[in-house]
Amino acid sequence: MTNPGFEAFQLVKFCERKLSSQRQNYFFKPYFRCSFPENHKFNIRSGKLPAKLKDTYKQKGMRKRMVESLRRRGIEDEAVLTAMAAVPRHFFLEKDFEDHAYEDKPFPIGCEQTISQPFTVAYQTAMLNIQNGDKVLEIGTGSGYQAAILSVLGAKVYTVERQEMLYFRSKVLLAELGFRTVHCFFRDGTKGLPEYAPFTKILATAGATGIPEPLKAQLAIGGILVIPVGNQVQKMLKITRLSETEFKEEAFDNFRFVPFLGGIEKA
Ligand code: SAH
Repeated sequence: MTNPGFEAFQLVKFCERKLSSQRQNYFFKPYFRCSFPENHKFNIRSGKLPAKLKDTYKQKGMRKRMVESLRRRGIEDEAVLTAMAAVPRHFFLEKDFEDHAYEDKPFPIGCEQTISQPFTVAYQTAMLNIQNGDKVLEIGTGSGYQAAILSVLGAKVYTVERQEMLYFRSKVLLAELGFRTVHCFFRDGTKGLPEYAPFTKILATAGATGIPEPLKAQLAIGGILVIPVGNQVQKMLKITRLSETEFKEEAFDNFRFVPFLGGIEKA
């Protein structure tokens, strides 16, 4: 698989520079209307979606092409590809980027953060090997897109965000979309979410300089933690908890993520 991380990082920097002058307008606008396929087998409650969310044939077509390109780039997990074909990524982007929602690029979502690019979402999700009923802790809710993908795959998702504005916006959007198995928290993810531990899967969507001990401690035995670790560039690590005291660590490709930071930021 090729690694899109470096190029993507530069693109984000470019978009952020362009956006900085208009950041005060940087909120989701309630203009969508949605139609999911009648027969999708996931837990998006298709009959109950709000009228303002809209998923056109053109967007569906672009999404299908996005999934085909992920497949060409080496993503083989059919469940992940199906989930990504089902969730309209444009719902999670600001209107100005809507036309680009199905390009394999990250985009600014405010607070100097980005929605992960589709390849990264597919890559991390495939590493987690989500099973129906998995209890997943996600660090870095951001736009809510990754949480939605995990939910569609059958996971009960606990997602934590340190930027209050992003937390609030994603919580509202996910609730509007009917993702009842996603629970949002405004917290510092370096501490995990001890009151809901253990988790069968833990996913960090920000680049950490080391593995926070609480995340390992909150992993169920047999559970998997996927976390990008490094300074300028992060190596994707997969930590499997073998027993109370033993962990197996495997390293995969390099990526560039926004930083995993301590503390919280109020809106
Ligand atoms: N999963 C997101 C990706 C967002 S980018 C999506 O699908 O859109 C990573 C996010 O991690 C950012 O929103 C950032 O604010 C958040 N983050 C970074 N450090 C964190 C921490 N310690 N606790 C919680 N969230 C954190």
